[in-house]
Parts: sequence; C-alpha cells; structure tokens
Amino acid sequence: MKQLVSNGILYGIHWTGLMPVFRRLFAGRAVIVMFHEIQRDFQRELMTGTSVDLLQHCLVWLQRQGWKIVSLDECLRALSRNEPKAPRYAVITFDDGYRDLRSVALPLLEQNKTPFVLYVPTGAPTRALNSWWLGLREIFRRADHVTIDPMGTKFECSDFHSKKAGLKAVTQWVHQDYRRAALLKPTFDRYAVSLSALNAAYFLDERELQALSRHPLASIGGHTTSHAALAMLDPSAARAELVDNRRYLETLLELPVRHLAYPYGTAGACGPREERLAEQAGFSTGVTTRKGHLGDGSLNPFGLPRIGVGCHLESQRSFEANASGVQVAAHALMKAVSPLQCATGH
Ligand SMILES: [Zn+2]
Repeated sequence: MKQLVSNGILYGIHWTGLMPVFRRLFAGRAVIVMFHEIQRDFQRELMTGTSVDLLQHCLVWLQRQGWKIVSLDECLRALSRNEPKAPRYAVITFDDGYRDLRSVALPLLEQNKTPFVLYVPTGAPTRALNSWWLGLREIFRRADHVTIDPMGTKFECSDFHSKKAGLKAVTQWVHQDYRRAALLKPTFDRYAVSLSALNAAYFLDERELQALSRHPLASIGGHTTSHAALAMLDPSAARAELVDNRRYLETLLELPVRHLAYPYGTAGACGPREERLAEQAGFSTGVTTRKGHLGDGSLNPFGLPRIGVGCHLESQRSFEANASGVQVAAHALMKAVSPLQCATGH
C-alpha cells in the first residue's frame, strides 16, 4: 500500500510537471546520495549496481536543478551556518570500496569536479570480507539450478529474469536477518565460489586505495572491519569493528579517517548505541541508509540519512523524485490516511 501510494505520487507529479513545486515544499537543504558499484555492463552483473549512464545523469541533473555538490565536511559546515539564501547541497558517497569507482566512475567525477566519500571495510582490501552478495551473484550467474540449503529453496534459473529474481529473493532473505550471511559458506563451497577471489576481482587493493586517497576529490571513510550489522553484536565486538577499521585505514593511508558508513545502515543494523560507539571510536559523522534529507538547524551527525540510487530504468525518475522530497510527501500522506485504514480494518 505504502509503495503504491509512493509510486502513484511519483508518477503523478512527474506527468503533471509538479516536481519543482514539490522540491520547494518538501526537499530539505541537502541530500547525501549513496552508490555502490558503478558498472559499464550492469546486465552482466544481474543489475545489482548502478550504470555509468545513470551516475552521469544524477550528477548532471543535480547541478542543473541547482544543487551544489560539495564534500561532506563542507555540506555540514554550510548547514550549521543556517544561511537563509544558501543553495541546496548534495554529497556523493560510494560504499564498500569497489574497483570500478576508480576505473569507471572517477573520470566522470573528475569531469564534473565532484567531491566524493568512499567508505571502505577492512576486509575489502585485505580480501577477508564475507562478501556474500558477490558470492550469491556469482552462483546465479554461473548456474541454471541453484539450491540454497539454509534457506530450504531451489531456484530454476536458466534465463536473465529468473536469475535476477532468484538473486533478489536470497538477498532479501539475508537482509531479514544479517546473521544468515554466515550460513551461506557451505553453499559457496558447493558451487566452488571463492569469496577471496571475488574480493580481489571487485575491490580496490591496498595500493590502489592509497593512491585514491591522495586524489583531491576523494575522502576515505570507515565501514567497519568485517561489514557486520553492528546492532547484532555485543558492545565490545561492535566497538572493535569501528576502532580497528579506523586504525587500519589511518595506518594504511597516513590520513585522518573521520567519516563512517554503518554497514547495511537500516534501523535494524544501527541505532543510538552504534551512534555513541562511532563517536567514542573517533569518527565525526555516521551515514545510514535510512531515506531522507538534511534540514536546517540541528542535525544528528551520527545518524545522517541518505538516498540510494539503483540501476533499473525507473531509477532515473525515482532518483529525481526522491531528491525532490516525494518520499517525504508520501510519508506524510500515509500518516494522514492510516487512521482511516485503522477505522475500516480488523
Ligand atoms: Zn556496505
């Protein structure tokens, strides 16, 4: 229902040309945009990242619509000044440390003079990461019959659409309980999928990360040691994930690391406890994957919202609507209609 209302509003305002009006009413003062992989051939990767064309569209669209793309530090400084006639700001972020940031996205970022933050878990450059999402994608790419034993499900997937749907189903199953990621190891072994080999193929190595950290547009942020959902861990383990990752990156890069992205970033993966731990670990900011905009006045630097960009064709319109505050409007509308639902429901 919520999705229907949101989509209905989205398409309605697109076709009626009301996007600029929505932006004035609902968009905040700033938006932090989240990307993961930037792919030239996103069909081959079962549409799990963002196409390079969509990245280009987002950068150009933001600038044309009057957003000023700045670094995270500059954005927060500007918001704290609370200037009445300041422009809207946008911050570009990439999670996980994929190599395609350097090989595919960087030329576009340079062309558009776009500062960016790259959030890196220690396990990516050290190749120790339990990158279960890459392992699952590899299985569905290679096999036409996929059995996920811990899920108790078999997938017949000989064509692109069934492979994409199967991958999506298993991914959602893990997202329902992040501890399930650890149950997939026998499945990877059975399909002879090496996560360390995938890590080496897809993630920047230490030398590449050192070089990128010297780029004038780049900031490197933490993303924990093992990419764990911190809320699932006891306090000392969660603290170690943050402290060790920051220390690792600062030693490797010989630079201060002050920004953090919480792995998965949902309300179930990080909350007030993780925000306190991040501050105690020496970070200055923490971004989530909770959708929203940054407003005027006081904001919580350890619980910053972001809007994510997918790769589907609708993502172009969806990104424009989200950046313009349509989700805020949909949420307000849902709140308004929910008492009616309660009155007529069981
Ligand atoms: Zn991540």
